[in-house]
Amino acid sequence: MKQSHLFTKTRREAPKDEVAKNAQLLIRAGFINKEMAGVYSYLPLGLRVLNKIVNIIREEMNAIGGQEVHLTALQDKKNWEATNRWDDKVVDNWFKTELKNGTELGLGFTHEEPLTALMKDHVRSFRDLPTSVYQFQTKFRNEARAKSGIMRGREFLMKDLYSFNRDEKAHADFYEKAKQAYLKIFDRVGLGAETFVTFASGGSFSKYSHEFQTLTEAGEDTIFVDEKKKIAINKEVLNDEVLKDLGVNKADLIEKKAVEVGNIFSLGTRFSEPLNLVYSNEEGKSVPVVMGSYGIGPGRVMGTIVEVHADDKGLVWPEAVAPFGVHLIAIFDKVGKVQVEADNLYKKLSDKGIEVLYDDRDTTAGEKFGDSDLIGIPTRYVISEKTLANNSIEIKDRLTGKVEMVKIDTL
Ligand code: ATP
Ligand code: MG
Repeated sequence: MKQSHLFTKTRREAPKDEVAKNAQLLIRAGFINKEMAGVYSYLPLGLRVLNKIVNIIREEMNAIGGQEVHLTALQDKKNWEATNRWDDKVVDNWFKTELKNGTELGLGFTHEEPLTALMKDHVRSFRDLPTSVYQFQTKFRNEARAKSGIMRGREFLMKDLYSFNRDEKAHADFYEKAKQAYLKIFDRVGLGAETFVTFASGGSFSKYSHEFQTLTEAGEDTIFVDEKKKIAINKEVLNDEVLKDLGVNKADLIEKKAVEVGNIFSLGTRFSEPLNLVYSNEEGKSVPVVMGSYGIGPGRVMGTIVEVHADDKGLVWPEAVAPFGVHLIAIFDKVGKVQVEADNLYKKLSDKGIEVLYDDRDTTAGEKFGDSDLIGIPTRYVISEKTLANNSIEIKDRLTGKVEMVKIDTL
């Protein structure tokens, strides 16, 4: 993409009311737009990053057998009444609305209820299980605080997968596969080193749930990390009994701030019983399906990547999620040789399938370099009269700052 064509502009200052580093930088670099507190739009550069994260998640969900669907945001109250989650006293972050005729509707904050209800038409016998279904969808939550930028939106994208199994044993097998898939995802998006499987409250159907917590001062959670064992315990559940249960010594734990980038949960028959999702087993007996839910917020992951990797110059994207692989910068005073060579190189790289953002704008070198640091593409190619005098371009690594000169014909 030619930068002269990109409609977004960088800016020196973020809006005064934006306090989160991730949103400040993403707004300044033109990746997102703040509509209001906790509500952000994704612009071309931001959407490219979000889509890369989404695709990595999609690949890993497909690899464990997940089948993709797209459920509705508008929710039928009757499914939620059946599980006692319609009442605002039970669920405090609903957005609700109504039809012209007065019928109440909800805007989905999660999708256990509608999917469980839907599966009734498809799961009948033990032969229909196991199965798992996922989607990427906008969720709506009337969050009390929205001070963490895109890490806590009131409207945000979630990947939510739901698993359906015959019994606890089959569920446990799938749950473990999903846990490994999640670790792969956080590795692939560049958060592997900072992300810990964290024991958290399991609700009424299992002892624990597992959160995937990424260490960052910007996180809203407090966890206790055992670095040797590479696990952590959420402060909410830390007590002597849990320590003993997990075989962890209090002395090995370090208190850290972290953000929950993912969460996997055993649901037992919490939803299948009230919504009557049953199957007939090998003896022909009707039994409730055992379920699990597995969530990741791609926007929260993107915000977390910013918090973890950005430096004082701007964004720093890991290769796998960067909006482009190469930022090609042409430095020229007037139309001439440099521009011709740069156009050439842009075409060649693009033909090779390399994603290039080409700064062909008629502006100063200072502005181009400043914008390039802010946008944070992993590799920068600079072509100028000086580099061309050696038939070379300069290659700079955004993360390390390392610079090398490379002959154009060996590139
Ligand atoms: P938190 O405890 O941080 O409020 P949660 O436990 O309510 O999150 P889940 O319901 O488990 O979150 O949602 C699954 C995933 O969706 C989370 O792990 C997170 O990545 C993402 N997520 C949750 N709430 C938000 C939000 N308000 N904005 C962006 N992403 C979110
Ligand atoms: Mg949570």
